[in-house]
Amino acid sequence: IEELLRRSEKLNTVGQLAAGVAHEIRNPLTTLRGFLQLQQQTHKTNPDHIDLMLSELDRINLIVSEFLILAKPQAIHFQERDVRIIMGDVISFLDSQAHLYGIEFKLTFAVEPTFVHCEENQLKQVFINLLKNAIEAMPEGGNVWIDLKRPNAELVQIDIRDEGQGIPEELMPHLGEPFITNKETGTGLGLMVSQRIIQGHRGTMEIESEVGIGTKVSIVLPAVQRTAIEG
Ligand code: ADP
Ligand code: MG
Repeated sequence: IEELLRRSEKLNTVGQLAAGVAHEIRNPLTTLRGFLQLQQQTHKTNPDHIDLMLSELDRINLIVSEFLILAKPQAIHFQERDVRIIMGDVISFLDSQAHLYGIEFKLTFAVEPTFVHCEENQLKQVFINLLKNAIEAMPEGGNVWIDLKRPNAELVQIDIRDEGQGIPEELMPHLGEPFITNKETGTGLGLMVSQRIIQGHRGTMEIESEVGIGTKVSIVLPAVQRTAIEG
């Protein structure tokens, strides 16, 4: 019975999420239909309307792709990987774009190896989601501090801290729920996807934030103990 209960709870969350996604997609579809109908009636194309239609299409695309990360039954291969390498890859991927926005990444990587048992692409997805949020919180530019450390032999900790606008207190209890966003083109799926991935890695993710000061996200994952021979 417990197993059944657990499963029905899970189904329920997936059902709610699917309903949310459907709703979020229906809105831009309605707009698209409206503009197409208008063109059909007037036999005129208005460049502004085309722009709007394109951005509505982009929005649908974004919601669907973020949702697919969760829904896709992708082959999951957990492997031993050093978080320093994974984070390094993500940084070099985002660095030039961040630079354009006046963002600087300040890295402090542990001297000790930070190996974890992980699905590399999923962890990359989490880091990208969190770094994008940090960048988006600083429209005027600023610093993002990324610390990788070994608080003890059992754990690897990843801190991502920005000096952005911070998260309003009333939003804090709802973080990680789908479609919680204060951005015009946000989906509110990034934190939820990240939280689920970290849970799937038996880790925890905590968010501290102060409006006007900044935000810190701390992820803690079980460390893989490596013998000296393995390096
Ligand atoms: P999205 O980025 O699409 O809005 P997320 O799930 O990534 O969705 O984030 C949800 C909301 O949490 C954001 O809209 C924002 O209000 C808040 N948030 C998350 N990270 C930060 C951050 N580093 N600084 C300020 N606000 C943040
Ligand atoms: Mg986001």
